[in-house]
Amino acid sequence: MQVWKFGGTSVGKPERMHSIRELITADAGQKFVVLSALSGTTNALLSIGESLKAGQDEEALEKIEHLKAHYDSFLRELYKTSEGLAKGQQIIENEFSFIRSLTRIKPFTLKQEKELVAEGELLSTQMFQAHLEEMGVHALLLPALEFMRIDADNEPELDYIERKLREMLRPHGDKHILVTQGFICRNPRGEVDNLKRGGSDYTASLIGGAIRAEEIQIWTDIDGMHNNDPRIVRNTYPIRELTFEEAAELAYFGAKILHPSTITPARKFGVPVRLKNTMDPAAPGTLIADKTTDQVFKAVAAKDGITALYIHSLRMLNAYGFLRRIFEIFERFKTPVDMIATSEVSVSVTIDDITKVKEIQAELSTFCDLEEPEYDQTIICVVGNFSADKPGIAAQVLNALKGIPVRMISYGGTEHNLSLLLHSRYKAEALNALNEGLFNV
Ligand code: ADP
Ligand code: ASP
Ligand code: MG
Repeated sequence: MQVWKFGGTSVGKPERMHSIRELITADAGQKFVVLSALSGTTNALLSIGESLKAGQDEEALEKIEHLKAHYDSFLRELYKTSEGLAKGQQIIENEFSFIRSLTRIKPFTLKQEKELVAEGELLSTQMFQAHLEEMGVHALLLPALEFMRIDADNEPELDYIERKLREMLRPHGDKHILVTQGFICRNPRGEVDNLKRGGSDYTASLIGGAIRAEEIQIWTDIDGMHNNDPRIVRNTYPIRELTFEEAAELAYFGAKILHPSTITPARKFGVPVRLKNTMDPAAPGTLIADKTTDQVFKAVAAKDGITALYIHSLRMLNAYGFLRRIFEIFERFKTPVDMIATSEVSVSVTIDDITKVKEIQAELSTFCDLEEPEYDQTIICVVGNFSADKPGIAAQVLNALKGIPVRMISYGGTEHNLSLLLHSRYKAEALNALNEGLFNV
């Protein structure tokens, strides 16, 4: 079985839903189809939630009716028959009456917000399944809320997902098409929760790992992973092959085409991931697997919203145990560190989650001197084949960036990553300079 995930733009128009029906039924291979919400819906739902949080109920109700009108016209083009249309209308009436009911719950909390935002995927999957049925394709809709679960640290519970899916699939093992919601899950309290923005990719990979799929395909609006951010840099090009490690670094460090955690389950079970373009299905896309190529520089990605902390030991040289004490604090506050740079008496680290930064600073200050944190930083991650005996790699990267102030550098952690920290105001310039300096484009 293969897992095929279609993102927001891939389901965002009625004709796109028609095309993905054609794609998934073009051959007899069994497919587990994961869908996102229609493009724009998750943002619209979050915006309704903002109005409700602010006590602006009228405004929220207007936004709800505006969104509903979009679905009304979508349905009219999606379905070909009056039975299909009636079924579609019933689906959206049900879901929108639930959405309206959330406006009456006071106070409107995070729990309700998560129920609200889950509606996007609940709508798209039911509408698509009804379309498949209308076209004579018998598809089974498996509710993600019955098998996708995260633990108290917001980490997916892979064993549970695997066990649940096995149980749920047992009676339907021969079904050609299975459909489920991306992004949404339950938390340990049994409430509706989600895998964070862009989380449908992660759902696909978790399912792919859990069922040991033959392949995971992520269908989106671009022809694969590009060598640089196409939203910021002109002349980017698709990369045909990446290793799991390379793709994981790029996703983690900001290549928006993949949710940061997507590669983890796929790599764990050795399931290849293929990135494909719904708008151009014949394009080869990107294959992410074990195989590596010799190309030195493969791609660049950037992650914003980074904070740098500069920590100095109060003792002089040879302060062993210093690093352990520092990192224990980050661990206790469940705050991951992305980059580090050390000297004999100082350590600089970057974090992207600053919810506990005050507490972390308070504890560090009991045995360290601290500088003011620097906000609005960007990590630029250069990925490629940097085996230790290849000369000139760091020189080429730094030379490309020679006009830009670089705050930190990390090289040598693996043989395929060089990361740099700079102020976000230099990001676009840095990405463009690297494109010229490393890829000759
Ligand atoms: P979906 O809704 O299908 O999940 P996303 O918008 O999340 O799609 O991801 C696809 C987008 O990712 C592309 O349209 C592109 O603008 C952006 N993107 C950012 N970096 C890269 C990259 N390195 N390669 C390809 N796409 C990228
Ligand atoms: N609909 C969710 C979002 O917009 C999940 C996804 O599209 O992957 O973030
Ligand atoms: Mg996405």
